[in-house]
Amino acid sequence: MKAMVLEQFKQPMVWRDVPDPECGLQDVVIQVRANGLCATDLKVSDGAVSTVKLPLIPGHEVAGEVVEVGKDAGDLKSGDHIAVFPALACDSCDACRNGAANICRHVLRTGFELDGGFSQYMRVRARNAIKVGKGVPFDEASTINGAISTGYHALVQKARARAGETVLIVGVGGLGIHMAQIAKIMGATVFAADIDPEKLRLAEDYGADAVIDSRDQNLPEAIRDLTDGDGVDIVAECVGGHAVSGILDDSIACLKVGGRLLVVGYAYGQSLNIDSAALIYGQWSLIGTRASTIQDDVEVARLVESGRLKPVLSQRFPLEQANEALEKLSKSSPIGRMVLTS
Ligand SMILES: [Zn+2]
Ligand SMILES: [Zn+2]
Repeated sequence: MKAMVLEQFKQPMVWRDVPDPECGLQDVVIQVRANGLCATDLKVSDGAVSTVKLPLIPGHEVAGEVVEVGKDAGDLKSGDHIAVFPALACDSCDACRNGAANICRHVLRTGFELDGGFSQYMRVRARNAIKVGKGVPFDEASTINGAISTGYHALVQKARARAGETVLIVGVGGLGIHMAQIAKIMGATVFAADIDPEKLRLAEDYGADAVIDSRDQNLPEAIRDLTDGDGVDIVAECVGGHAVSGILDDSIACLKVGGRLLVVGYAYGQSLNIDSAALIYGQWSLIGTRASTIQDDVEVARLVESGRLKPVLSQRFPLEQANEALEKLSKSSPIGRMVLTS
């Protein structure tokens, strides 16, 4: 088969022949049909993820069709459509035994430590193959892990958002636009802030109750106006990048007493500054959150199948143009998820 292989960091991937995947007893082999792209793919190709060893076939937001089924692969059948949960946890550490496989320190992930989905076929552990209804197009299914499940895990598992609460999403890109929808589904009042008027319009289309253009409005002031001076229960900061420290300052200033800050967007070396007295008197929770559990992905798959949660996609590129797609992603902040199709 052919795959896009990362042979050297900071260099374009190479489209070349690689061995076909072998199907183990508890595996399936899928024909890859779509890969979501995110900023993490840029970190992988830049060599910023220390656990990545080359050569590697990247791609961690994968959807495809089952073409081969191992003898002990459970109920999966040829022709099933699946989304791939990328983490293979050890199953034997305390975190795994406590149901928190996402913090397993021995985890191996497809697209990072193991070959991922930038290939024509891919071997997937059966327990990591999440069946998705055939009514969901493959490009949408590829957003279940990552683009949607990261925000789902943050809001549902980490911040424990409740009906009637107020949630501010800061940055409505590929992650934020889905978090806004999830918060709505959970019964929250949702505010969205961004510097891109088109993204704000999209956030309104997907149910945000109010949007704030932070280029011409002071975010904490705008939030106080919207909440009778209280602030919000949850802020989900989804911007990251070199300016993230200032964005986190503003995010903290939007919290209500007892509020929770979800830090989803980040950058190496950029700090979170907080007045210790304000933290105590505000009784805030500061929550770093990352990735998702397989259960989150299953729940997201069911929400997408039901049509209540709508994956938001931007441009599609053929897999062979993955280099061009990543180049474009590095220079812009697309509206919705960019997807490689095959
Ligand atoms: Zn990702
Ligand atoms: Zn483990």
